[in-house]
Order: sequence, then structure tokens, then C-alpha cells
Amino acid sequence: MAGRPQMSLDEIREQVQTCRKCQLCEGRTNVVFGVGNPSARVLIVGEAPGKNEDLQGEPFVGAAGKYLNDLLAIAGLSREDVFIANVLKCRPPSNRDPRPEEIEACADYLREQTRAIDPDFIVTLGNFATKFILKTDVGITRLRGTLQQAGRFKVFPIFHPAAALYDGKKREALENDFATLGELLGNRE
Ligand code: SF4
Repeated sequence: MAGRPQMSLDEIREQVQTCRKCQLCEGRTNVVFGVGNPSARVLIVGEAPGKNEDLQGEPFVGAAGKYLNDLLAIAGLSREDVFIANVLKCRPPSNRDPRPEEIEACADYLREQTRAIDPDFIVTLGNFATKFILKTDVGITRLRGTLQQAGRFKVFPIFHPAAALYDGKKREALENDFATLGELLGNRE
């Protein structure tokens, strides 16, 4: 990426909206580019759009989205403070796992988004986003709640809110980790 001119978020969005670089373009209703503050200190990265996200064109809508809002509040954040994006911008059919060729085709968009936003922290939600950003095989259960580094970015892996909706233990871990995030950001004592 060195030497490439920096694109604005709007320029990246324009490219993504019409992207047909992988087969996932065939089944999408909407591209889910991501949403939030273009100069956020915190970039939240999930895996890929689900059914509701595909229908509405926004990440983290529905029950998992509402829970994410509650978690952000624990860290002293609101949706307007952060930017939320996924590794993949189009929904995999039946929410199957993303395939390597799809990730390869799509990953540059997230890289460009990260350059444009230039956050202090990247919060990775769940195994997939964490492994992708940290280039690691270590699972989320071991990495969650620990501060990591990827290039010049601080990375804070946590469980995926959707995985915790009906799992009390994971909810407790998520809530603790968002409290820690708030402390790291200086929003909590
Ligand atoms: S998933 Fe990414 S690479 Fe594939 S069509 Fe959608 S925007 Fe393009």
C-alpha cells in the first residue's frame, strides 16, 4: 500500500457500491460499506453482513446491533463516536464462512477505510475479524480483552455480540471488555 495516494471514505464508498470483484455480488441486496464517524478513534470490525444488514445496507442492525449500542455505552461511546465496518462488504449466502478468495478480493477496501479513518484502536469482533486483522491462528477465547498491536494500530479483540446474545458467560466477558476499552480510551476511571 505504500506510495498509494490516500482515498477519502466517499471515494472508497463509490468503488464498493459497484464492486463485482467476487461472487458475493450476485446474491447481495445491498453493499454494506460501514457507517459512523469518519475520523473515529475507534474502528469496529466485524465479519460480514447478515440478513438484516444486507436488507438495510447497514452493519449491526437488529438485536445484535442494539446490544452493541449498550456495550458501546459501557465504554462511554455512542455509535456517532465510532466507525463500524466488516471485513466483507456483501453477505455470504446463508451466512456461511467467507472464502479465502472473497477475503482477498474485498480486504483492500477495509485497508483503505482504515487508512482514511486512521483510528487509535481497532476493535475486532469475534474470531474471524480478529484472525484477519492480527494475522494469527490464536482463537478469540485466548485473545479477547488483551491489547494487541497490528502495524501502528492498537487492536482490542472481543467476542462477537451476536455470539453472546444468548450466552450469559460471553455477555459478562463482553461487558468487562468494553469497560476495559473505556479505560484504555480514558473514558472511565
Ligand atoms: S464482497 Fe467485497 S469484493 Fe466481493 S463483491 Fe462485495 S464488495 Fe466486492
